[in-house]
Amino acid sequence: MQTQRGYEVVSNEAGGVPIKAWTVGVPFEDEAKKQLRAMASLPFVHKWIAVMPDVHRGFGATVGSVVATAGAVIPAAVGVDIGCGMIAVRTTLRAEQLPDSLGKVRSAIEKAVPHGRTDNGGRNDRGAWQDSPAMHRDAWAHLKPGYDAILAKHPRLGRGPDLGHLGTLGTGNHFIEVCLDEAGQVWLMLHSGSRGVGNRIGSHFIELAKEDMRRFFIHLPEADLAYLPEGTEYFEDYLHAVSWAQEYAAMNRELMLRSVVEALKASGELPAFELTEAAVNCHHNYVAREHHYGKNVFVTRKGAVRAREGDLGIIPGSMGARSYIVRGKGNAEAFHSCSHGAGRVMSREAAKRRFTLEDHAKATAGIECRKDAEVIDETPGAYKPIDAVMTAQADLVDVVHTLRQVVCVKG
Ligand code: 5GP
Ligand code: MN
Ligand code: MN
Repeated sequence: MQTQRGYEVVSNEAGGVPIKAWTVGVPFEDEAKKQLRAMASLPFVHKWIAVMPDVHRGFGATVGSVVATAGAVIPAAVGVDIGCGMIAVRTTLRAEQLPDSLGKVRSAIEKAVPHGRTDNGGRNDRGAWQDSPAMHRDAWAHLKPGYDAILAKHPRLGRGPDLGHLGTLGTGNHFIEVCLDEAGQVWLMLHSGSRGVGNRIGSHFIELAKEDMRRFFIHLPEADLAYLPEGTEYFEDYLHAVSWAQEYAAMNRELMLRSVVEALKASGELPAFELTEAAVNCHHNYVAREHHYGKNVFVTRKGAVRAREGDLGIIPGSMGARSYIVRGKGNAEAFHSCSHGAGRVMSREAAKRRFTLEDHAKATAGIECRKDAEVIDETPGAYKPIDAVMTAQADLVDVVHTLRQVVCVKG
């Protein structure tokens, strides 16, 4: 039912805070509602939970959820993909300046940024920064002291080769695209996060929170809701580590974008070009201190983007759908947030059963991208229709640019 206020309220007889969902006209699975109700039952959730139209069930916490907490944080609500997000920048290039065949542009990108589990077209996934330009070394010199301080207190995190992931894309849903906007201007856009080291930090503190729950005899409806109360030993450590991983993620995106720009300039495939303005770089899995409804709180956005009034954000569609550069409207009831994409409408397994290689080829016709069986779980039909998702959040953001990819590199 369309409501004037833009959201619908998810029934929650079990008690707890209300659940306000910007999901009018989009699929919203019961499994996700169940997960949200458990989250809403926690005593330290501030006001209500805001749900974005790309909502679906996630590991630990619901994707597309925005939760403000006072006096505690829930490490699993951020998850292990700490700082995952998007970066996008407009170039001076025009659509008509792109070559007719984009195969070489795609391989130039694939060579410039290590991606996937192994050595797909690039340098070894494990050692990107070691043999990389000075920018990787400088970035690591900036990040290293912070990590050393975390490690000194939490040696279980380990030093492993994951630190060499800086400047690498990762697998699965992570991607790099060349897009055209509504005016025929070329954009570069990519999706990645804090890689292995963020994953280790997330897993470590989720485990510590679970241990604390046992230690304090706190029983939860779901183990993944384990939280770290303010004032306890690991609370400050987590906030410190998570914000370090978030910085790593943002820098990782910057580094890869710069590698892509340099590689395209050197490729001989394109005329000389520049970037027209600063890149938009936004997290969609993270926690931040914010002020809402009279209180200082921790806002956890898991699969959601900050959209204060005037904030620029990125909402990607899928391998074959439109993506959007948006400007926040500063909707207070949504804790100044919007969706982080279209959101999955089915699991990876279901997508592999449902779609054929021909379906995928049709859905990505004209796009220079992977068409192999391994990428079927990422096919456009596995995601919600982006048009409906954008309509459902019309009171959260305005569309600034509509992007259509011509090249998509997937991890
Ligand atoms: P997640 O961070 O949850 O893995 O994905 C974020 C969003 O990115 C998804 O909800 C989906 O809408 C979008 N997406 C997934 N794959 C692609 C892709 O290859 N290209 C674009 N433009 N968007 C994608
Ligand atoms: Mn990610
Ligand atoms: Mn992501």
